[in-house]
Amino acid sequence: MTASPPYVPGSAATSAVPARRRGISSLRERAQAFHHYAGSRDLAPLAAGQDPCALFITCADSRIIPTMITAASPGELFELRTAGNVVPPYRLEHPSGEAATIEYAVAVLGVPHVIVCGHSHCGAVSAATRRTDLSAAPMVARWLAQTIRETTVSCGAGPRPLVDATQRHVLAQLEMLRTYPAIRDRLDGGRLRLHGWFYEIETGAMHAHQPGTGHFLPL
Ligand SMILES: [Zn+2]
Repeated sequence: MTASPPYVPGSAATSAVPARRRGISSLRERAQAFHHYAGSRDLAPLAAGQDPCALFITCADSRIIPTMITAASPGELFELRTAGNVVPPYRLEHPSGEAATIEYAVAVLGVPHVIVCGHSHCGAVSAATRRTDLSAAPMVARWLAQTIRETTVSCGAGPRPLVDATQRHVLAQLEMLRTYPAIRDRLDGGRLRLHGWFYEIETGAMHAHQPGTGHFLPL
């Protein structure tokens, strides 16, 4: 039996072997290594509960790791990941896991911040913008058709049409959040702030929406 390699967060990213070829055995090895690593840290207080500082809503894209980007520790971020970092409409008669996650974070955990983070090269926004054929994935097609408004993500004439569309899409999700009763209450009471972020996967740069100018600028 060989000893598992030491746990180094994100170390697989530098591997010469593609992720698909490293496969599940690599994930198992690293999970085993994490258990050894965790033994050297005091994680026991986490069992008492959670008090995260933010709800982080982002895309399910595998190239985005919120806790790595923000160097967050366990307990800091409450995450919601959906295809295209979409916030669905609040419809009590049609409950969804996404809406329930948002409501729980705000109404039960009382997070003081909600971040919606879009990203460059987003397949979901790109598919909605370019009307990609999604007949092989009918659920994806319906999800995008119901939640991503074409008028919001239609490509403009600028030099970075997909970036612009994705950033407009982030702002549309912030507007959708404002229709949630729990969020509206806390915004009115000054107990919650909403943030629009945009992550550039090719550089690692994070940009934040500036309500005053409407632009996204590097953090
Ligand atoms: Zn995406």
